[in-house]
Amino acid sequence: MAHHSYPFLDELKARFGGQRCPCGKAHRLAPVEVILGEGAFDSSARGLLQRYGSGASLWVLSDERTESAAGARWKGAVRAGNISSRILPGDPSPVPTLELAQALSAEVRALAPDLVVGVGSGVVSDLVKKVSLDADLPNWCVATAASVDAYGSAMSAIRLAGYHRAVPARPSEVIVCDLEVIVRAPRRLFLAGLGDLLAKYLASLDWRLAARVTGETYCEVVGGFALGSARRAIDAARAWESDPEAALSALMEAALVSGFAMQAFGSSRPAASAEHTVAHFWETVGAAGATEHDLHGILVGAATKFLLPGYTAWLGAAGGLARLEKLDVEERVLALEREAPWQATLEPALMPWRRVIAEEQQRKVLDRSMMTRRLQALAREKDQILAFAQPLLAELAEAMESLEGLGFPFSLETLRIAEPQRLLPVRNVRLLRDRYTAFDLAHELGREGELLDSIAAGA
Ligand SMILES: [Zn+2]
Ligand SMILES: [Zn+2]
Repeated sequence: MAHHSYPFLDELKARFGGQRCPCGKAHRLAPVEVILGEGAFDSSARGLLQRYGSGASLWVLSDERTESAAGARWKGAVRAGNISSRILPGDPSPVPTLELAQALSAEVRALAPDLVVGVGSGVVSDLVKKVSLDADLPNWCVATAASVDAYGSAMSAIRLAGYHRAVPARPSEVIVCDLEVIVRAPRRLFLAGLGDLLAKYLASLDWRLAARVTGETYCEVVGGFALGSARRAIDAARAWESDPEAALSALMEAALVSGFAMQAFGSSRPAASAEHTVAHFWETVGAAGATEHDLHGILVGAATKFLLPGYTAWLGAAGGLARLEKLDVEERVLALEREAPWQATLEPALMPWRRVIAEEQQRKVLDRSMMTRRLQALAREKDQILAFAQPLLAELAEAMESLEGLGFPFSLETLRIAEPQRLLPVRNVRLLRDRYTAFDLAHELGREGELLDSIAAGA
C-alpha cells in the first residue's frame, strides 16, 4: 500500500487555529476532519459511530453517478441505524437551483436526521452545504473526485434566477476522500482539478498586485498555501503515467488546501481572479457546446490559457508595464474622471447581467485622492511588481505545457465556445467582478487596450 503525505494540509490546519497572522487577520477554520487515503470509508464509519452512536439517523444525498461510484459502498461501510437516501438523476447532472435546495431543505427538516451527508464533489456537495445551513444540521461530504476546491468553503455555487451565485453555506465537518474512489473517477475530472489549480498563479499575481497598488490585505501565509499546494500537485501530475495515485493524492490535497485557504481568509481571493470571472461567465451562459468538457475546472484552465498572452504582454519582461516611462498622475486622474459611467457604455450583450454588474460596481467608490494614491503607488512599486510577476507567468506557461501533455482540452475550439462568447467576458472582466486585477491596472494607466489586443490576437 502506497504511503502518501499531506504536508500542506497538516501545516495549514496547525496554522489556522485562530492565532494572529503577520497579515493582521486571525485566520480560523471551522473544525474539520479530513479522512484522506486508502481505507477512508472504514475510518469514517468508526468516526461516525464515535460521534453519533449506533442509532444515528442520516440523510444522504447523491446522484445516480455518485451513488454507484461511492454512495452505495459508503452506506454499506457505515451501517448506520437509519439512513434516508435521496438520489438525484445523474444524466444530465443535476442543476443546483435555489428551488431544489429549498425543496431538499424542507425534506430534511421534516425528517430531522442527526446528520446530512453529500456523496459527490460538485453539485451534490454544494447542495448539501446549503441544506446543512438552512436546516441547521452538520454535514459530511464523501468526495468522488479531486476536481473541486469547494468542500471546505463556506459558500455554495447555487443557481439563482438563471445565474450561478456564491451563497452562504455550512462547510463540511468531515470530508471523506477514499483514493480508491478518486482513482476510478473519469480522467476529465482529474484534468478539471488541475485546470482549477492553474488559477492559483494568476490569483497570486493579481492579489499581490492589488496589495501593492490599492493597499488591499495580502496574506503571505494563506497565499503561500494556495500556490504551494497547486505547484506540488502540478509537479506530481507530470509523473502521472508512473504514479497516478501520488498525482491524485497531491491533487486532492491541493483542492482541499485551496478550499480551506478561502475559508480561512474569508473570500476566494487566494484562489480566483480574472480567469474565474471569465469561466463563471461561460458556465452561466452554458457557452461550452462540448458538454463533456463543461466542467468548472476545465473552463477555468481554458480561461487561464486564454488570458495568459494578455498578462504576458502587460506584465512580462518586455511588456507594457516594463516599458512604462513617465507617469503623469494628474492627467491620468482627470482622464479617469472624464470616463462615462458603465451604464452608459454597457455592451448590449451584457444587458441580462445588469443587476450582477450593478451589485459589483456599487462597492467600487473611487474618488480623486484614492485614484491619485493608486497611481503614485504604481509608479513607486512598478519594479517590485514586475519582479514577482515575470517568474510567476513563466512558471504558469510551463505548468500549462505539462497539462497540455496530459491532454488537457485548452482550446476554445475543442470546448466549442462560440466566437462572440469568447472575448465578451474578457472585455468586461472589470465590470463583472469587483476584484482588482491586471485589467484594472492597465485600465487605470489608460492601456487596457494593449492587454485586450494581445488576448484577441490569440483568440
Ligand atoms: Zn494572514
Ligand atoms: Zn475554481
